Amino acid sequence: MSTIFDKILDGEILCHKVYEDDHVLAFLDIGPIADGHTLVIPKERKAQLDQLSDEAAAAIGRVLPRICRAVLAATGASAYNVLQNNGGMAHQVVKHVHFHVIPKTAIGGLGINWPAGQLDGERAKELTEAMSAHLAPNG
Ligand code: AMP
Repeated sequence: MSTIFDKILDGEILCHKVYEDDHVLAFLDIGPIADGHTLVIPKERKAQLDQLSDEAAAAIGRVLPRICRAVLAATGASAYNVLQNNGGMAHQVVKHVHFHVIPKTAIGGLGINWPAGQLDGERAKELTEAMSAHLAPNG
């Protein structure tokens, strides 16, 4: 399904471009929660991070720190969050993979609710075994 970011990638609507290469586009968020709030997207059209190819993921990973440095330099912020939402329940509105780079200052940025629990030993064993099975070379 087409998203607003497809229209940006296709040049049908404008964006305030920060960075572009063959695989990645970064632009200012139109509804910033802090000055300099930037979105980094793969040109590969996938809704969620878990669907992204290794190649597209690597291309994002290669430039993400550089874009973070540019956001900090441009805004003067020294703290920031990188937020990546997947699925409506996780607050994803635009169904095209995107990373938010959000400066955190005294007057703006991301508010976080972090309801930390306590890791149970048995559950940790189950989880690590299940995840390892999926991460095996042929998993
Ligand atoms: P999310 O909730 O993670 O899906 O965030 C989607 C983000 O896309 C929001 O922060 C929006 O403000 C932003 N957004 C939506 N349309 C545009 C647009 N045309 N240009 C820039 N940012 C946009």
